[in-house]
Amino acid sequence: MLHFYYGVMGSSKTAMLLMQRYNYMTQDLHVALVKPAIDTRIDLNTVYSRVGLTACADIVLGPGHSIREQLSWFAVRNGYNDVPYVFVDEAQFLSPEQVQEMADMSDEIEFFCYGLKTDFMGEFFPGSAALLRLAEDVGEVPGGLCWCGCKATMNTRIDGKGNVIKEGEQVLIDNQQEIRYIGLCYKHWKAGISHAPVSE
Ligand SMILES: [Zn+2]
Repeated sequence: MLHFYYGVMGSSKTAMLLMQRYNYMTQDLHVALVKPAIDTRIDLNTVYSRVGLTACADIVLGPGHSIREQLSWFAVRNGYNDVPYVFVDEAQFLSPEQVQEMADMSDEIEFFCYGLKTDFMGEFFPGSAALLRLAEDVGEVPGGLCWCGCKATMNTRIDGKGNVIKEGEQVLIDNQQEIRYIGLCYKHWKAGISHAPVSE
């Protein structure tokens, strides 16, 4: 089955993914940890959670890679007959073709994809749109909060001074150009207010 668990920035999606993967590993089940190559926050192979959990990706998936091919090579390298459990971090960066491949393999493999639903402009990522179309199990990772204490639903790009940025390229990773991403509630995202008013 193809699963898509989406959550806003700061909802600990990667930590949840790593904990779920750990549960499968302790049962000696064959798992693969996949991340799209576009996420270069730490280094190419590291899956990183802001909570502090990290792991090394088994497969770093380039934009043109076939996930089917990559999984079969991973199985051969490890002497596995199959890899029935696959965890994908930052799944919004998958291509629609890669999501389609996963859907086509999902009668034999459990794909657990964690990622963002929308970008900093409130638009779908192509990978997220494909996952929402094709995943048989869609759920929300709760817990992301706005500074006001309300549920955060909007991924927000801010510059080094905390200004909310509403225009630009869809993908700018947060170690570039001093930008960061935070979660805001819809009201504060719309108003472009990224932090509580400073009292004097
Ligand atoms: Zn708010």
